[in-house]
Parts: sequence; C-alpha cells; structure tokens
Amino acid sequence: MTTPTTPRTVLVTGGNRGIGYAIAAEFVAQGHRVAVTARSGKGPEGTLTVIADVTDSASIDAAFSEVENELGPVEVVVANAGITKDTLLLRMSEDDFTSVVDTNLTGSFRVVKRASKGMLKARFGRIVLISSVVGLYGSPGQVNYSASKSALVGFARSITRELGARGITANIVAPGFIETDMTAELPEEQQAEYKKSIPAGRYGSAAEVAKAVAWLASDDAAYISGAVIPVDGGLGMGH
Ligand code: NAD
Repeated sequence: MTTPTTPRTVLVTGGNRGIGYAIAAEFVAQGHRVAVTARSGKGPEGTLTVIADVTDSASIDAAFSEVENELGPVEVVVANAGITKDTLLLRMSEDDFTSVVDTNLTGSFRVVKRASKGMLKARFGRIVLISSVVGLYGSPGQVNYSASKSALVGFARSITRELGARGITANIVAPGFIETDMTAELPEEQQAEYKKSIPAGRYGSAAEVAKAVAWLASDDAAYISGAVIPVDGGLGMGH
C-alpha cells in the first residue's frame, strides 16, 4: 500500500493542457496545493493558474511570487513546458535550434533556479524535469529537441551533486509516445508503424506519466536523485 505523502506546494509549468495538465490533476488528487503556469487557458480544477512564459525570467519570478503569496513556498517544481520545431538538420535554421533550446533547456534552468531559492531555505525540494525518450534515443528531424532533452540529464545530475545534501532531489521523467492531441493527428499508418517499435505495443497516457512524476515528488522517493525514469513502454530501454 502507498503511504500517504506530506501535502506540498507544487508548481507545474505548462499545466493548461497535455501532460502538464495531467500532472497537475494527479497532484490535486493526491491532496497537494497545486499551481500551474500557462500562457493561455487554465489548469485543472483545484489549481491556481498563473501566467508565465519560460523564456522570460521576469514573468517566472512574478509567477513564483504569486504562488508563494497564495499557496506558500514552492516545494515541488515540475519543469514540463516544452516545444518542438522538427525539421532535418540541413533545413534547420539557427533560430529553430536556439528557440527550442531556449524553451526546453534554458526555460527549465530559469524555473529551477527561481525554485531553488525557497528550497534551499526550507532545506527541502523536489525537482522533476520532463525530458523525452528522444533525448537519449535520438530521432531524425529532432536534432534541436533531442539535444535540449538530453541536456536535462546533465542538468539534473549536477543539481543532485550541488544540492543533494540540502534535502533537494532532481530527477528526470522521460516519456515515450504519449497519447495527446499531437499524436492523435498522425495518419493511421504512421501511428501503427510507431506502435510496432514500442515493446508495450501501444502509446502511453498522460496519466501514466503523471503517476511517475507524483511518485518522484512523494516522501517515498526521498533517496532517489539524478535518475532518469522512462515512461515509454520499453521503447528506450538500455539508456
Ligand atoms: P503540449 O504542447 O500539449 O503542452 C506543452 C505546454 O508547454 C503547453 O502548456 C504550452 O503552453 C507550454 N509551453 C510551451 N512553450 C512555453 C513557454 N515559452 N512558456 C511557458 N509555457 C510554454 O505538449 P505535451 O505533449 O503535453 O508535452 C509536455 C512535455 O512533455 C514537453 O516538455 C514535451 O517535450 C514532453 N514530451 C511529450 C511527449 C508526447 O508524446 N506528447 C513525449 C515525450 C516528452
């Protein structure tokens, strides 16, 4: 049986849809105080939605201040906001590359740096970074995305070495193919082709990713840090 976990103040970036929305809903269901950042729209019922763009440090600072005032210091941060700009290397512009890195990697840096202030003071923190199976597996047409996602591993491991003695953990969740609006739009044959490469023979759900994230933030995962937890039906095994 799972032990009930201590209620925490949680902030999920990009929690207005997709995987971030499911993560926020899972934390609410487990009894935590949950805020999401959004550029538009809202988080699930029971969450506080604050406006922030992860490419803009000032907006992140303001969002954290709002959450701290409303819900208390952020104890769990989930850096989920991410984008893709897929194209083959020869066609990829410098802006295609740097804008994806700016959101997925530097955006996570901005968010985690701001979160670490309160965590250091509290001598407690849980940092979860949403990477992707593509980070370590590679993917044609995703040089920018894959580079941004694999870099999160070194990022989490360095935080672990820097802040591990202060009660702070930093882990990676690496989803595989997850059923979202994006995957639903793929042509049938392409979906079937992708499924063939996944040992589980199916896509995952955002809720399955959310369970892994919530567990890493729970009391039960206090001694886990610098880990890469795949939620990919076996697609990326061995990394
Ligand atoms: P999504 O496009 O539905 O959601 C992405 C969220 O990030 C949105 O809320 C969006 O507003 C937010 N976002 C993007 N740029 C932002 C910015 N500059 N500032 C603030 N917020 C911003 O995508 P998703 O499928 O739910 O993906 C969520 C995370 O999971 C991403 O990091 C993605 O790379 C990762 N991921 C997704 C899959 C998948 O199959 N869907 C697989 C592996 C990893």
